[in-house]
Amino acid sequence: MAKGKDARAFISDILTSDVLDSAEAQRTIGVADALKAARAVIRKNDNKARRDAVVNKAKALVAGNIADAVESYREGKSTKAGSEGKAFSALLSGYREVMSTGSQHASEDFSSTAVKDFEKSAHKRATEQRPYISAFLDHIVKSLTPASRADVYGATMNGAYNEAYGDTVSDAHPTYKVVWQLGDASGSCAACKGRDGQVFDSVGDLPGYPGDSEFGGFCLGGPNCTCGISFIENDDEAYFEPEQTPQEAADAMLENIPGGMDMAHQVMTRDDVDAEMVDRANARTLTGE
Ligand SMILES: [Zn+2]
Repeated sequence: MAKGKDARAFISDILTSDVLDSAEAQRTIGVADALKAARAVIRKNDNKARRDAVVNKAKALVAGNIADAVESYREGKSTKAGSEGKAFSALLSGYREVMSTGSQHASEDFSSTAVKDFEKSAHKRATEQRPYISAFLDHIVKSLTPASRADVYGATMNGAYNEAYGDTVSDAHPTYKVVWQLGDASGSCAACKGRDGQVFDSVGDLPGYPGDSEFGGFCLGGPNCTCGISFIENDDEAYFEPEQTPQEAADAMLENIPGGMDMAHQVMTRDDVDAEMVDRANARTLTGE
């Protein structure tokens, strides 16, 4: 770049290197399109941070409680039925927590979207795990399995969150399209990396909710998948109007940040963002990129 700040020098909680990389990748099609891409990445990052917060907390709690339940059976401090019941309860309360929060998040993201009750689904999920919990208890007394295997049960929280989020939006807006959002880049499998940003016509067209795969199924990591989903009303909705000026695009980008200007002000002023967008546009015009 002949002019303008090094893009990498402009780092904040909102314009992360992911966002800038995405904008850089789009630069041959112009600043407006670069901003479309940036906005999509901002939405993805915000959704992921929000999902991770609730899912990771539930994962740790569920895995810890199940590990305690199996340890106490292994040490002869509880019966098998007692430990199985405790593990079941831990799973059920984990599913309840992530599913009610997932539905709540969906309701916050889109207007006219009612929070749904996922009690039945949480119960179904916990019940499906019960035979595996039983086998786990049998294995642990024979020292065939370490207690850390409880982590796998904790990992099933992500699929539950995604189901609740997805079903809540799709029930209210069946025509909205679904976008696959890659989870932790380092831990994600090749199949999920290939789906990052892919648009599906409906939740029924997904290979399954991210996190609901068997090991080696549509996600090679099975329940360890950290991917998520988002929704768009139509293909154009994720994009800015091409005739927008950088100033308008920057304003629109800020409006799209959950928490709005209050949130943005914590890390930068509106003028900083506008100046950065104009700098980037100028730098590209001057270097003919
Ligand atoms: Zn995967």
